[in-house]
Amino acid sequence: MRLRNIPRAEGTIQSHHDVIKRPEDQRGCWKQVFGNKNPVHIEIGMGKGRFILNMAKKYPNINFIGIERYSSVLLRAIEKYDTQEFHDLKNIRFVCMDARNIGDVFTEGEVKKIYLNFSDPWPKARHAKRRLTSVEFLKRYESVLAPDGVVEFKTDNTGLFNFSLEQVREAGWVLRAFTYDLHRHVEMNKGNIMTEYEEKFSSRGNPINKLIAARR
Ligand code: SAM
Repeated sequence: MRLRNIPRAEGTIQSHHDVIKRPEDQRGCWKQVFGNKNPVHIEIGMGKGRFILNMAKKYPNINFIGIERYSSVLLRAIEKYDTQEFHDLKNIRFVCMDARNIGDVFTEGEVKKIYLNFSDPWPKARHAKRRLTSVEFLKRYESVLAPDGVVEFKTDNTGLFNFSLEQVREAGWVLRAFTYDLHRHVEMNKGNIMTEYEEKFSSRGNPINKLIAARR
């Protein structure tokens, strides 16, 4: 997702209290940012923020960090956060960055769970390393995840999903659970919170794939 450039995006983001402007300065210090020792869950490529905002509302004892590469997209999440529905949340922060640099922002074991929702497919083979579920990215996640940490990934793109299942094995990770039809899987769909893309694609009749993978 890349929205057209929105001139006010940079200014709004820079002045927003809950957007962390120099996230690398917080490396190893995220507990202080939130003022508690609750576990940290991050969403990479959160888009307009529907999923992570609703997760933060549902789970007040978890600290959430929404990561998004484009300021024009992050702006949409911030605008949603600032509405009456979400503005009281104390357990969410936002970072504008490329997840490729995640190791500069979190130290070893600082993240308990990583959510990847409807990540860009990068269909060309020569761009496979850019996919957020590639071995290259799984290695980056290993450097920040707790030993028992997990990645949860949802997509309607079955080609990307099958690639991701292979990458999980190739990286030596353990597949905890997976389904090719999340919304009909009673166990895995329990408490599922839909993302913007999930809503859009499932309303067109596309089944949603989900996997949960652990470092070991
Ligand atoms: N997760 C949302 C959803 O399910 O509705 C948005 C999905 S959208 C297809 C993917 C989002 O991931 C885009 O907003 C894109 O800018 C962001 N993204 C892609 N690669 C990224 C990266 N390397 N670092 C941070 N964000 C990234």
